[in-house]
Amino acid sequence: MAKANKIIIFGIFIVGQICSLTLAKSLEKQQYGRLVFYYEPGDRLLTERLIKNIDEPLKKIEQLFQESVQTQVSVLITKSDAQFMEYLKGRVPEWSQAVALPEQRMIVLKLADAEQIKKSPTILLHELMHVLIYDHLKGRYIPTWLNEGMADYFSENGLSFEKKIVLAQAIVNKKIIDLAAIDTMFRWNAPKARLAYIEAQSAVEFIVSTYGVERLVELLNNVRQQRSFPEAFVKTFGFDLLDFEIRWNEYIKNKYRWLVLLKIEEWIFALSGVLFLIAVIVVYLRNRKKLKELTIEDFNHLDDGGP
Ligand SMILES: [Zn+2]
Repeated sequence: MAKANKIIIFGIFIVGQICSLTLAKSLEKQQYGRLVFYYEPGDRLLTERLIKNIDEPLKKIEQLFQESVQTQVSVLITKSDAQFMEYLKGRVPEWSQAVALPEQRMIVLKLADAEQIKKSPTILLHELMHVLIYDHLKGRYIPTWLNEGMADYFSENGLSFEKKIVLAQAIVNKKIIDLAAIDTMFRWNAPKARLAYIEAQSAVEFIVSTYGVERLVELLNNVRQQRSFPEAFVKTFGFDLLDFEIRWNEYIKNKYRWLVLLKIEEWIFALSGVLFLIAVIVVYLRNRKKLKELTIEDFNHLDDGGP
């Protein structure tokens, strides 16, 4: 998650907490550029792998936005839900896997299971995007859909097949959430928040594929020049946010709605029905043939054995 500036009030407290816990648990640290990783001694290999995997994509992102992490950022690696929540004192949603506190120059990651460890480079890149966006905008406001959308889009290279299916189902079931409403997603339950993240990512995908990534960078530059976000948006695109919402809705409908046909469980269910029907017909035809053969054989037999 990012929207870290929502919890700024607790930021200083959290950083203090982390510093004291870091000292108490004698964590090891490793420097990579402006990032300082803190981890438990057993997690050295994990940290090295993480650094290796973010190296190239991070450079690409920095190049794209002509922004690099200038001021040191601490990256704390936690290995359990309890440890993660201990650091953040329950100030983040339970579904959160990581948090960025750009103003406090702090990222906390939770790598509690194999799946999270596998995804850790993507998760870290997501949080680093929040730091880069914050630095680029000098802390100015952008809506959550754009902040989260950029973080997901540039850390994952577009929507996964699974995400496309979730989006298609939401379109067909008329469950699409307004982009502006996504500002309050950090109070939502996990499934609704997941849909909000996917929508946000698709909105950024729409901008990049329709208007080009340069226009996205231009939008950020316009926001930085002390304009309000709606004003900066109109200046960049020539239409307002309401118009954007309509265009984005059209885009996702045209691009993803048909995918609902590919909902795999329903296909398996339908296919199993068809297979059952085929099996019944095959058995019926085979039995009929056998019966026919049997009748002819019996008839012949009767002929042969007759008086
Ligand atoms: Zn985020």
